[in-house]
Amino acid sequence: METHNLSSHELTLTVLMTPDMSNFSGKVHGGAILKKLDEVAYACASRYAGSYVVTLSVDQVIFKQPINVGELVTFLASINYAGTSSMEVGIKVVAENIQQRSVRHTNSCYFTMVAVNGEGRPQKVPELDITTPLQQLRFEKAQLRRKLRKQAMEEEDSATREYLRQNPESTR
Ligand code: GDP
Repeated sequence: METHNLSSHELTLTVLMTPDMSNFSGKVHGGAILKKLDEVAYACASRYAGSYVVTLSVDQVIFKQPINVGELVTFLASINYAGTSSMEVGIKVVAENIQQRSVRHTNSCYFTMVAVNGEGRPQKVPELDITTPLQQLRFEKAQLRRKLRKQAMEEEDSATREYLRQNPESTR
């Protein structure tokens, strides 16, 4: 079997934005981009883990910059963090206007994916090999996001408990 030396923690996908992805004004639907982002996150995480993966959460998807039909969109994905069975996949989205030869960074987001076995139970992922200062920075920022996500969930739960304590008759 022929072997190629593909990086196991990074993945890039370029897609042409076709009219079926657009709304009435020729801009690409946020949902069409979200679907691609999820596919890219799946591909990057499952190849890294060598298993099936499921999406646990998505952070910081902000559609500030519209993307037009006819543009080439590149998704640059990388594993920023690997825990026991979870991974953070960061994705940078870049849109290219072919006629103007211009490129712009439209958004970045961070997916948390969990490796699962055939029965859907979490399974271990390989330890992340950090070799550059940029990888180290992204690893640390991913750890910080993980901590903040956990903290936000705990604070929300405690706000709900407090609401239920003050409004015991409420069924929400
Ligand atoms: P950062 O997270 O602060 O580095 O913010 P960026 O917007 O530059 O990138 C977002 C994420 O996209 C990063 O955390 C990486 O996971 C991924 N990424 C960025 N640039 C590249 C790249 O050149 N190649 C690949 N494969 N992934 C990238």
